[in-house]
Amino acid sequence: MRIDIIAVFPEMFEGPFTESIIKRAVNKGIVEIGLHNLRDYTTDKHHKVDDYSFAAGAGMVMMIEPVDNCISQLKSQRDYDEVIYMSPDGELLDQPLCNQLSMKENIIILCGHYKGIDERIREHLITKEISIGNYVLSGGELGAAVLVDSLVRLIPGALGDETSALSDSFQDGLVSPPVYTRPRNYKGWEVPEVLLSGNDKLINDWRLEQAIERTKVRRPEMYENFKKS
Ligand code: SAH
Repeated sequence: MRIDIIAVFPEMFEGPFTESIIKRAVNKGIVEIGLHNLRDYTTDKHHKVDDYSFAAGAGMVMMIEPVDNCISQLKSQRDYDEVIYMSPDGELLDQPLCNQLSMKENIIILCGHYKGIDERIREHLITKEISIGNYVLSGGELGAAVLVDSLVRLIPGALGDETSALSDSFQDGLVSPPVYTRPRNYKGWEVPEVLLSGNDKLINDWRLEQAIERTKVRRPEMYENFKKS
C-alpha cells in the first residue's frame, strides 16, 4: 500500500511514523508513506497556502491552487483509489471503514488547517471525507496519523501473530475480553482461575463470554447487531 499525505505541518508525523508498528511496516516495505509539504506546491513567493475567507471575519481558508498542484503531481505518477480529506463532518472512522481502506493500493490524505479548505477542493478533488470523531482538532495531521495507524496494522505482515489484528476489538462485532499477565497474584489481586487451568476450550469459552458481556455493557448497539448475526 502507498499512502501520500499532504499537510502544512508534515513534521508532525515524525513521532507516530518512526516508532513501533508503522516503522516496522515501512522498513519491511509493506507500506510506503510519502509526506508532502503543501508550501512546496505554491507559486506564491512567501509560500502562502491560506487566504482570507470571502465571508469576512470567518478566519483563514486553505487555498485551492497548492492543493490542486500537489494532487495533480501525485496523480501523474500513479493512479489513486481514494483522495481523502480529513474533516470533522466526514464519515466517522470505524473498524469496517478501516478494513475497507486497508485493502486499497494507493491513497492520498489531505490534512486541513485554519478554518478548513476551499469548498471547491472538496467538490472537485476529494473522493472521500473522514472524521476521527465528533470534536474539532486544530489540523488534519493528528487525524491522518490515527487513520494511517489504524490501516497499517491491518495490512498482512504488519503485526506479528502475537498481536494479530483479527482478535482485536470490533473485528468480530465484539469488544475484546480482558487480558492478564504475570504475576498470578499481585497484592492479593488475582488472575481469574480459569486462565490458569491450561484447558484451551474452557479458556476460549470464558473469553467469548467476557467479550459478549463487555459488549452488552459498553457498546449496547453493537451487542444488538451481534445478537442478530
Ligand atoms: N472550521 C472547521 C474546522 C476546521 S479544523 C469546521 O468547523 O468544520 C482544521 C482542520 O482540522 C480541518 O480542515 C480538518 O482537516 C482537521 N480536523 C478537525 N477536526 C477533525 C476531525 N474530527 N477529524 C478529522 N479531521 C479533523
